[in-house]
Amino acid sequence: MSTVVQQMCRAGKHLAELGLSPGSSGNISVREGDRLYLSPTGVALADLDEGSVAVTALSPNGLDPLSGPRPSKEASLHAAMYLRDPSVTCVVHLHSTYAVAASCLPPWTAYSALPPLTPYLVMRLGNLPLVPYRAPGDPSQAQLIGDLTLDFHGVLLQNHGPVVTGVDVQQAVDRAVEVEVAARTAVLIGDRPRARLLSEQECRALARHHGQPWGLATAEETPT
Ligand SMILES: [Zn+2]
Repeated sequence: MSTVVQQMCRAGKHLAELGLSPGSSGNISVREGDRLYLSPTGVALADLDEGSVAVTALSPNGLDPLSGPRPSKEASLHAAMYLRDPSVTCVVHLHSTYAVAASCLPPWTAYSALPPLTPYLVMRLGNLPLVPYRAPGDPSQAQLIGDLTLDFHGVLLQNHGPVVTGVDVQQAVDRAVEVEVAARTAVLIGDRPRARLLSEQECRALARHHGQPWGLATAEETPT
């Protein structure tokens, strides 16, 4: 089994050890070329094993199972993220507690469900749009992700949880952890009008310096 699948299994255990994968929730995938390796349905991230990973082909139409167990029923969310951005090689989806709590609150803006309370969400992720609720496994959820026109490296599914990407496994894991930390901060502060947010100028400077998307403009439209 390839190194990237080993990295995926280690990442699954790590996320579970951090408490970000309650029960058997959460799923993770990696891409090698046009092939996806996904955590199987009904298997906790803590128990992810290189020998029992679902293997599918990624095509513009979605996923075609090739071998191994059935992929998570949320596999179409992963496919939507890969199809948007060819540089993505890992996708992490969690039901981590604070991110789920934040996903039930009104979004801060159209491009970020979470307010910029610390620099780190902007530095590591940038935009994190809230995607309207759909029942788990509903294929229209993936369609909503595919239809978004702004640039992003992650979304927050309303009343559900985050889906984040990385150019490698480590970056996707770091982003998943950052979303949970930022959501925890936002939920702890709550709706306090006196809380200081980073200014739009501060956010734009951070995003530009760290190469992250921030705001509704796409990369080509962002003024330099
Ligand atoms: Zn889910």
